[in-house]
Amino acid sequence: MLIGERFTYPLEPLHRVISKTVKKYPDALAYKYQDQLLTYSMLEEQSDYMAAFLMANGLCPGTVVGVLLDRSATLVVTLLAILKAGGVYLPMDIDFPEDRILYMLEDSGATMLLTYSDKRVFSAENLTVINLSLAEIAQLKPELPRVSHEWPAYILYTSGSTGRPKGVKVTHQNLVNLLMSMFSFPGMVHTDKLLAVTTISFDISNLELFLPLTAGATLVMADAATARDGKALFRMMKQEQITFMQATPATWKLLLLSGWDEKLDIKIVSCGEPLPKDLAEKILERCASLWNMYGPTETTIYSTGKQILKTDRVITIGKPIGNTEVYILDDQLNPVPWGEIGEIYISGDGVTQGYFAQPELDAEKFVIDPFKDGSAKMYRTGDLGQLTADDEILYLGRLDKQIKIRGYRIEAGEIEYQLKKCPEVAEAVVTTRTDRSHDLRLVAYVMLKDFALNLNFKSLQHDFKDRLAQELPSYMIPSEFYLLEELPLTLNGKIDYKALPAAVRKTTGKVIASADTELEKNLFAIWAEALDTTDFTIDDDFLDVGGHSLIALYIMNEIEKLLGKTVPISALYEYPTIRKLAAVLDNGISDSLAASLVKLKSGGDKHPLYLIHGNGLNLLNFNALVQYLPDDQPVYGFQAIGLNASDAEIGTMEQVAARYVKELLHQNPDGPYLLAGYSYGGNIGIEMARILKNMGKEIRLLALFDANAQNSEKYNSWTSRIGRKILRQGPKAVWFTRSLVKTPAKAIGYQLFLLRNNANRILQKLRLVKQEKSIGVFEQLERVTQKYNEAYYNYRIKPYDGEIYLFKAAERVYFVDDAEQLGWGKYALKVHVREVPGDHKTMFEEPNVATFAAELTRVIDAINCA
Ligand code: AMP
Repeated sequence: MLIGERFTYPLEPLHRVISKTVKKYPDALAYKYQDQLLTYSMLEEQSDYMAAFLMANGLCPGTVVGVLLDRSATLVVTLLAILKAGGVYLPMDIDFPEDRILYMLEDSGATMLLTYSDKRVFSAENLTVINLSLAEIAQLKPELPRVSHEWPAYILYTSGSTGRPKGVKVTHQNLVNLLMSMFSFPGMVHTDKLLAVTTISFDISNLELFLPLTAGATLVMADAATARDGKALFRMMKQEQITFMQATPATWKLLLLSGWDEKLDIKIVSCGEPLPKDLAEKILERCASLWNMYGPTETTIYSTGKQILKTDRVITIGKPIGNTEVYILDDQLNPVPWGEIGEIYISGDGVTQGYFAQPELDAEKFVIDPFKDGSAKMYRTGDLGQLTADDEILYLGRLDKQIKIRGYRIEAGEIEYQLKKCPEVAEAVVTTRTDRSHDLRLVAYVMLKDFALNLNFKSLQHDFKDRLAQELPSYMIPSEFYLLEELPLTLNGKIDYKALPAAVRKTTGKVIASADTELEKNLFAIWAEALDTTDFTIDDDFLDVGGHSLIALYIMNEIEKLLGKTVPISALYEYPTIRKLAAVLDNGISDSLAASLVKLKSGGDKHPLYLIHGNGLNLLNFNALVQYLPDDQPVYGFQAIGLNASDAEIGTMEQVAARYVKELLHQNPDGPYLLAGYSYGGNIGIEMARILKNMGKEIRLLALFDANAQNSEKYNSWTSRIGRKILRQGPKAVWFTRSLVKTPAKAIGYQLFLLRNNANRILQKLRLVKQEKSIGVFEQLERVTQKYNEAYYNYRIKPYDGEIYLFKAAERVYFVDDAEQLGWGKYALKVHVREVPGDHKTMFEEPNVATFAAELTRVIDAINCA
């Protein structure tokens, strides 16, 4: 038996504990999301207003509130507001399938759902759905109810082995005990900056969001794209000078693979899965300290932990946190002799109120603690453990079929249950296998009811995936499916998991025979080596057979060795089957793959819309916009020359436009054309429209997305440049004061950003800071960017003989001379202005992008009808 440190903590609801921090550090920076900053007092005030709003809309003490919100500036404000109003939040991932969301809402008895989007409409009996992006939140101080520390603060759903997810009720007291205990280890102080990277449907996110706020520290939230991108994440850790970060081993691996090669002054907490020793060694070389924390959702995030040292021979999960006891017991609930293996049981202040509306499961998992007087419960984890000589706990795996993939807790039984619901399936077994890059993959073994269906197994796999996707989150969809003719069983009649791979009905011979050409056969061999399986055909999609970016890298490297020429990775995404890839490689890759024109959405017979990249040079920022456009609107995009090709030929802006027009005419020789350029791309759009018009083609739409008509300063004499600068200062000061009043966090954030950038540039010029040198793809990207910048520097806007639709961001983070038409009035016959919510960047993000797409669709429909 191991007993954690006894300590007292306030028996108060979490928001009251945070209010005390607000009093202590009112002006300290509490929260940062992109360029939006909130001090502690702003956080308190805004969460009060939000609480008043929610209460006015029906939130009463005890109301369960579904939270379907992406990472944003208001996420923490909203969660705090729910707690202040006495509500219980039910965090859900915005990417969850609709059925799963509805199930959780219904199962938990939620009567309110908060979203940012009206794209997905949820309706259920007694459910009030509030779209926060449209909400008018008045500045009212609420009359807050008394909230007990014994009430649940949140309900967190985890995968359920009997087929449906199960909700765990976590109280304010559970959470406050955990957070206060974290002050002693791993430790957090008010000068810390924590980078939050976890999605809110994962229980550890509650620690990320609230630990800094109970310590007076700063919570910096990475946006969803950054949280997934190792390079961007590493950049953010450095730029923001992060001192505390918690993530699963998968994220640490990603960061190492993305080039984390220097020591940072940061406390790293690894959790959710066993921390491999070799990974720990690499992290230790690059951080100030490393901690391994362990715990199930049922006992509130973490129950044990320890600092990992270079001298540690094995990685253990340490000792209990404060007010927590851990026992290692046999199946009769007796402590196992010291050093023997048993099941880990957890008791103490972290033990939650159990499962929501699941009395049987509750009784099985939350049992009376026989080592305490009274009715205190302990939680039976299903984890195997052993005590070490230092009285630490060694984690030794699971007693059941629970799986952890990239930190996600998955019950194989839930996937099997959903698979067995497919009418063709007789039996299904879900397990895992480790692939070549040491990643764990979900694998499904399936026996079909009708033997005749075996031949259609390939196409059935796609159906299975589609059907699973309607019920399960994407991380629970197996990446590989194998056909079994019978289930291998052990002597005592249980499934023989070890024998499963050998029992698979082999399809390999037939498949290789279907590879006709030499190149197809070679590609097949490369794929098979990379994917570590031969169970796919030359018509299978790379992503469907378990391909991912690391495997793509490997495959392209092998193809380069085979053919002696470089093939861009994008080829694998554009030509995702062996047959298609072989055809394009046979026909010579240069033209098709070096293209700037990329198909973003097919289908429908409307005239296609062509989007032109902005300063970022790629098309990724258009993703959400494209998704929101109607299904019958085909969309193409122009990405920068050189992003896909091996070399870049970029001269003037006019030359860039001419190159894009050449590709456009090849794909769509007749038109009419609908062009839309974002920011920098607006200038390219105008030049393309001009070229096409001169050829007698019809430009049906020329749209500019928040592009500013500003000539390069080089065309003004230095006297006029200085004159202009002086004249601008008056209106600029007025604009800045106004924006300071309207959106203070944004205004200050942007000015700080400029200040930092300018300071950095000057320091670099004076050689006081080292300029980082890029390599590989990044070096190429830098070179291309420089060429595009030069093209802009030399560009002079000329009048355009046509009309322009200007989609202007409603919020302006920087000053422009002509806030009405962004300067286009003097260059076009007519400027139609459409204001869309958000700023220059967030207009493409949820929730603003939905309104933007709707407005763009209205304009396209109107001009198509005219
Ligand atoms: P979850 O409820 O998602 O936090 O998952 C809890 C389970 O994850 C535990 O019961 C363990 O099986 C596993 N787990 C969590 N943290 C660790 C860790 N540091 N080392 C090993 N396994 C862990």
